[in-house]
Formats: sequence, structure tokens, C-alpha cells
Amino acid sequence: MWNDKDFEYGKLTLNKQTVEPGENKLVNLNVARLPSGTQISIKAHVARSSNPGPTVLILGGVHGDEINGVEIVRRAVFEGILAKPLRGTIIAIPVLNVYGFINFSRDVPDGKDVNRAFPGVSSGSLASRVAASLTKNVLPLIDLGMDFHTGGRTLYNYPQARYSSKDPGAFELAKVFAPPFIIQKPLISKSLRKIAFEMGKTILVYEGGEALRFDGLAIQKGYEGMQRVLHRLEMIKMAPAATHDIVHVTRTGWIRASQSGLFMWTQSSGCEVRKNEPLGFFRDKDGLEEVILRANRSGYIIGHNNTPVVHQGDALFHIGQEWEKVEPGP
Ligand SMILES: [Zn+2]
Repeated sequence: MWNDKDFEYGKLTLNKQTVEPGENKLVNLNVARLPSGTQISIKAHVARSSNPGPTVLILGGVHGDEINGVEIVRRAVFEGILAKPLRGTIIAIPVLNVYGFINFSRDVPDGKDVNRAFPGVSSGSLASRVAASLTKNVLPLIDLGMDFHTGGRTLYNYPQARYSSKDPGAFELAKVFAPPFIIQKPLISKSLRKIAFEMGKTILVYEGGEALRFDGLAIQKGYEGMQRVLHRLEMIKMAPAATHDIVHVTRTGWIRASQSGLFMWTQSSGCEVRKNEPLGFFRDKDGLEEVILRANRSGYIIGHNNTPVVHQGDALFHIGQEWEKVEPGP
């Protein structure tokens, strides 16, 4: 990825539309109409330099309710960061799962997860069709990609990049991106990251914030990281410098609710905690009792649950329990 090869660079065809070097186009990928008859299309902004270089995918909204990722890609398009690459091609898709986006849902309307439907089939279920539109039309064109996600509903992820130990290129890419945390996580079956990896293409997955909520920090860290990667690839002129150490996490685990009740946290994501340190309080609704939740291990809080009412056993704090500090990539 970092070795500058001779990029094959000629006309690029996306969904039967040709984009020549030096040209920009907004290409529609149609998947399926809504039951109302409305045509839904996935919009791909294609921007091409006349100078040969890599082709990079910038993707949001694989999960329709993960709005921070959508905002990061939207902002980059709106600010013109992606419009005039110094070399190569940028393909930016703010929302892949448009069906989930309009329904405030992670999934498509039948409840299937697009990110567990890759590579997908054009004649399959809706999730499979959405996945196939990317696998068939876009993945063959790219050299690498960045895929912007958030945590789930009420589950906040402190800004972090995820990579698989099988893909050393992804770790290098993550260090250049330089989020506060880089987390080693295995490739999930039928995910975009796994299918792209099998096609020889690295996809860096970024997670920040929670579903359906804007989070300024998560948007900022994702936006800056994207620019650092594009700058490292010599595709944009400038990027914010990474001046901080990165916490590289190789093992994670959850601290769960030891009892049910109203939970008020006193520590939140991004903090380092020591074993036995208080993390919050369980309170019963009748105002009779208050019990402290203590950390059962040391580490960094990489994500937490924002739900105020919890059941015993609910996952409350995601802890990076084995970690080392690494320097941002050059
Ligand atoms: Zn997601």
C-alpha cells in the first residue's frame, strides 16, 4: 500500500458511467425502489486528478443510523477536501445504507445488517443487494478505503480505528490516521472489511460516538484522521498534524452491571482506570439504596453504555485491558 506502484490510470467506469482523469462526477447507484415507488439511490462522488495515483474509498452509513460517519464524509465533500485530489481518485459515499438512514435504523427494513451481508448478491435480499452494489461496482476500482462507523444505540465508542492482525497494512494506515485508540479486532465474517481484505484491499474501520447522536469529538477525530491518510498518500496538500501518542489496544473486555437499577456513571470513555476504582453508582428507583460499581480490571475505557436504566449483566464499560502506546505514523 505504501510502496508507490505504477497505478493503472485511465478511464474509470462506475455503474456504466465513465469518469476520465481530471474529471469529477456524481454517480447514482440504484438498488431498489421503496414500496411507495420512490427510487432510492446511493450517491457516489467521484473526483479524479489527471495525475496517476491510488483510488481511495471514503464511506459512511453502512449502518444507516451511524450519523457521525455520515457527517464526516458529508463535511469532507462540502468543504471541498475531496474535490481536487493532487493525484489519484477519491470515491466518497456519505450514506451506503439509505434504507436504514431514512428509517433511523442500523439495518435495512427487513432487519438484516448490510455489514453482515457482504459480498452480497444483486438478486438477493435488500441488505445483500446494497452490499453487492458496493462489492461489484466500487471495490474492484479501489486500492484502499476508510469506513466510518459509530457505536450502537446508547453505546458510545471513544474515537478509535480497528484493524485485523492479519492485515499489517491496516495497522500502518491506522497509525497514520492517528485516532486516540487503535484496536486489534478480528475480521468479522461477511463484513465489508473481511471481503475487501480477501480482495487484497485494506479497509480501515473508524468508530466514534453512538448511533443517532452527533458527537463533536468523534466527528473531529474522524475528519482529521481521514485528512492525514489522504495527505500521506500525497492526494491532498495539508492535514492537521497528529501530536499525541496513540493507545494501541490488543485485548478488550466488558465490565458488566453487577445489579439492576438506575446507573449513573462517574467515569466515561477515554479515561484510564485502575482496578477497584469507582466507575459509577447503581441506585434503586425508590431512593433507598446506592451501590458503587468498581472496575474489576485496569485499562482504558474505550466505550461505555449511556443507558440510564440497566439490568444486571448489561455491558457498561468496554475496557482496553492490554495496551501499549505507539507513535502516530509518519
Ligand atoms: Zn457500524
